[in-house]
Amino acid sequence: MSDTHVSEYPKLGFYIDAQWITSRDRTHNVINPATGETLGELPLATTADLDQALETAERGFRAWRRTPAAARAQVLRGAAEILRQRVDVISRNATREEGKTLSEARSETLACADLFDFYAEEAKRVYGRVLVRPAGLRSLVMKEPVGPVAAFAPWNFPVANPGRKLGAPIAAGCSVILKPAEEAPASAMAVVQALIDAGCPPDVVQLVFGSPDEVSRHLLASPVIRKLSFTGSTAVGKHLLRLAAETVKLTTMELGGHAPVIIFEDCDFEKTVSTLAAAKVRNAGQVCVSPTRFYIHEGIYDRFINAFAKQIAKTRVGDGLAADIQMGPMANARRPAAISELISDAVSHGARLRIGGEAIEGRGYFWQPTLLTDVPVDSRIMNEEPFGPIVAAAPFATFDEVVEQSNRLPFGLASFAFTENARQANLIGEAIEAGMVGINTTLLGAADAPFGGVKQSGHGSEDGPEGLAACLVTKTIHQV
Ligand code: NAD
Repeated sequence: MSDTHVSEYPKLGFYIDAQWITSRDRTHNVINPATGETLGELPLATTADLDQALETAERGFRAWRRTPAAARAQVLRGAAEILRQRVDVISRNATREEGKTLSEARSETLACADLFDFYAEEAKRVYGRVLVRPAGLRSLVMKEPVGPVAAFAPWNFPVANPGRKLGAPIAAGCSVILKPAEEAPASAMAVVQALIDAGCPPDVVQLVFGSPDEVSRHLLASPVIRKLSFTGSTAVGKHLLRLAAETVKLTTMELGGHAPVIIFEDCDFEKTVSTLAAAKVRNAGQVCVSPTRFYIHEGIYDRFINAFAKQIAKTRVGDGLAADIQMGPMANARRPAAISELISDAVSHGARLRIGGEAIEGRGYFWQPTLLTDVPVDSRIMNEEPFGPIVAAAPFATFDEVVEQSNRLPFGLASFAFTENARQANLIGEAIEAGMVGINTTLLGAADAPFGGVKQSGHGSEDGPEGLAACLVTKTIHQV
């Protein structure tokens, strides 16, 4: 087992055709968002590197699709075990690169291991059908791996996002060219290294970093790539869908959200306050399913705002590596700048800034947990995903009104409702337009549960059997 790429902050590189490439003319400076310090220089792939990755992925797919499912399962199970063995180093590096707390980074790494275990099992459960035909005739419905996948993973879950992009395709018999975010390369390297150390053939997984636009244009123009898998903003997702349309690739798109949270008068008040305060500061709000638009019943609005403000103001903010921290910095300089604009806009539209609203002085990209109340519907933050530790709250009076507000946006990723009334819970679960609904909980991710959105939050699911099905194509064979 090689420890080259799992030592404390490793020498950075990309991986093509069984080689770690650690030097190129063009590089990206990787920054620790808690300190502003440089962690390393990431070499960026050239067009020639990408061509080599494509050639390798094509070769890898030809052999991997014929590899028995039990052997593919063994690789995924082995990688899961290695991730667990290396969880300390991997999670420290994830925290250094992305800023989240160490306990969040640990849970994420262990969740990635669980996902690999789940897909090790699912790899063995790809079934076809034999259709009923007269004697002597056969019609077979076959499921086959789609082919080499180009996968683009963002920085907010630096371990789990690459894991999601790799687990299902590898189980299905596909090869993958993965381009994670340049902001958090060591985490993705560790996931790839775990697979290689578990015996994954080196032509099945290629890892590249580069200029995102250049890499996506180059890979998606190639007929070698049969599927695009992307997690990120809706704007970038639409651009990539257009590129993929040229060669009619299969797509799985996990795009932006703007999760409504409906807090009914009959919720378990204290539990709702504490659940939402903890969920909001998770990864400093940089989570696609983060609760963002709080619609609170007018009967408990003031009481809820007061209790929530008190709770969220107690959040311990600091370097995620330090003990007892509940929220780290924002992941990069773009986020505080974007949040600051959204807050000014909301206040200029008449919202009240109840707590927070400013960067925390000192080094790093720290931001105060922020609560805006009475936020008008036409302010930007009620319409654009904030992706930060910020809540936009407004009161509601009736069920129909809150459903209309919740479903008003073109997004439909996650949504949440808090009520102790079972009938109300059933009705709201059905009325909400979203890929995922949490009722009295904010926990939506699990290896066996499909994860994905509707409307402009994307299409297709990751995780669960649906994630594997999304890497397969159907072939019908009629035989006389
Ligand atoms: P961005 O839109 O520039 O980038 C989002 C992600 O897409 C990044 O990982 C980036 O590397 C990648 N990307 C950008 N351009 C690309 C291209 N042409 N080809 C391939 N990949 C490309 O925004 P950002 O500043 O990094 O993040 C901010 C916004 O992105 C957030 O407001 C949020 O909406 C969205 N985002 C969503 C998720 C998610 O889990 N769905 C994760 C991260 C970011």
